[in-house]
Amino acid sequence: MRALTYASEANVRVVDVPKPAISKPTEALVKVTLSAVCGSDLHIYHGRIPGCEGSVLGHEFVGVVEDAGSEVRRFKAGDRVVSSFFSSCGDCYYCRRGWFNQCIQKATFGYGQYFGALGGGQSEYVVVPLADHTLEAIPAGMGDEQAIFVGDILATGFFAAERAEISAGDTVAVIGAGPVGLMSIMSAHLFGPARLFVVDMVDSRLELAQGLGAIPINATQTEPVEAIKQATGGFGVDSSIEAVGLLESIGTAIACVRGGGTISSVGVPNHATGDFPYLDMWSKALTYRAGWCNVQAYMRPLLDLIEAGRLKPEAIISHRMKLDHGEEAYRIFNAREATKIVLTP
Ligand code: NAD
Ligand code: ZN
Repeated sequence: MRALTYASEANVRVVDVPKPAISKPTEALVKVTLSAVCGSDLHIYHGRIPGCEGSVLGHEFVGVVEDAGSEVRRFKAGDRVVSSFFSSCGDCYYCRRGWFNQCIQKATFGYGQYFGALGGGQSEYVVVPLADHTLEAIPAGMGDEQAIFVGDILATGFFAAERAEISAGDTVAVIGAGPVGLMSIMSAHLFGPARLFVVDMVDSRLELAQGLGAIPINATQTEPVEAIKQATGGFGVDSSIEAVGLLESIGTAIACVRGGGTISSVGVPNHATGDFPYLDMWSKALTYRAGWCNVQAYMRPLLDLIEAGRLKPEAIISHRMKLDHGEEAYRIFNAREATKIVLTP
């Protein structure tokens, strides 16, 4: 089958690899009908994730079940499914407490040896472990483009917004207008903020964010914390969502919040440690939340919101390309010439 693989820094290749097959009764083989390139794939592309050489990439995908193991109860051949970007069992210490992102059997698709050595969705077929808990059925009549993002970026945006504790009438700042930031904006609106600011440097992304009801701030033109404070009577926003993953953007997310406010960070930090404003956090009594999205808790309700017409995540797709053009897709997504790219095998 055709698959997009990581070769070396800034070097991905579409090559022929053996078609995978299920080897455990809890697995399903999914024939991929659509996949996407994610900001998290760029961490691999930049050579920051060890153990990815030769791996098939891709953790955002939808498809049709081709083969299901004997212990898979919820799905059978022919079912249309969307996958979480990681597997979970639904049964361990953590899953029973609802923390699927901490599952002891967690493994991430298309993320190399150290994240569980799973295959990736930027390919024609992928084996999904623990299929009953990792997959969700796509409602009849819902398109692949509508469903695909509930397995990663839409769930992450919703998770970020929920943990930002937004109340009706609040002011919110979203730092980053990439796909995750845009999904955070859509999700934050479900909680009823009066005003929502968005900070980025890319005009095309800021324009898209404005179309989603956010007030754009271009950080190359104005100092974002100053701009947010000026627009909020000098106080800062009630809560912020960080959707970039740089120490600098995390700093912005903390600094733009008023005393007593909440910061919700989902960007993957580019450094393991760094300066943290402990005294400021304490004196301003801030709440700081961060983390890997608990996707499996959100897929079903998000599919319901999409089906009801209350979320339109497909609106951020800027490029529809063939898997065979995957190398070009990574190049233009990395250059921020594309907002979100989906690939068909
Ligand atoms: P992306 O790289 O496409 O978008 C990042 C955006 O941030 C870009 O538009 C960029 O211009 C902007 N930016 C860069 N520096 C900035 C700054 N200092 N201030 C404001 N904006 C700035 O990536 P994405 O797909 O939107 O993903 C964003 C982050 O979320 C990545 O780190 C990704 O790995 C992470 N992520 C986390 C989870 C999770 O489970 N927590 C899930 C998916 C993605
Ligand atoms: Zn992702």
